[in-house]
Amino acid sequence: MSGILIAEDEERISSFIEKGLRAAGYTSHVVTNGGDALDFASSGSFDLLVLDIGLPGLDGFEVLRRLRSSGSTIPVIILTARDSGADTVAALESGANDYMSKPFRFDELLARIRLRAQDAVPADRSVLSHGDLSLDTRTRRATIGSRTVDLSAREFGLAEEFLRHPDQVLSREQLLSRVWGFDFDPGSNVVDVYVRYLRAKFGPEHIETVRGMGYRLR
Ligand code: CA
Repeated sequence: MSGILIAEDEERISSFIEKGLRAAGYTSHVVTNGGDALDFASSGSFDLLVLDIGLPGLDGFEVLRRLRSSGSTIPVIILTARDSGADTVAALESGANDYMSKPFRFDELLARIRLRAQDAVPADRSVLSHGDLSLDTRTRRATIGSRTVDLSAREFGLAEEFLRHPDQVLSREQLLSRVWGFDFDPGSNVVDVYVRYLRAKFGPEHIETVRGMGYRLR
């Protein structure tokens, strides 16, 4: 593990990020096209990828899709053009951990990098299990006993959060900020909806509702 990979074809932006990261004590490496972004990010040598959507060669979406389908769990923060809400949603759905809209302040990006780099899964803890439930965070496989369960990227993220904190009550706000990772409307019922999806797939007894507080993995 040796730092941050920056995939950005605009030199002005990449050098701005690189200088800021150096000042904050991080090492970084810049690539300027999608093919290199995929190769370097897949190498296992980086803690986190800052990924521009508009890259030559493979665009950022394609890089992200290929990374996730090959089982890579490297945290990814995407950079989108301002006012491209559709891009943002698409990127988060394809497995990005967070996003920044250009133009952005460096300290905002740094805060997100610090947060997301901590989520990186150490190699020896790639399999999380509790009772008969187990998740391999590298291959993105979920199993109950000997049965494999198909989970979407977001369902997997939610299941992972529960397995990292078994028997703990997790509030909707905690789950929103950790799994969805951005300023989601706190009145949103997206957590409840996804808990329902997980119960349907795992069996209802695995996730308990704690009235007025949140949910708990049993
Ligand atoms: Ca670009």
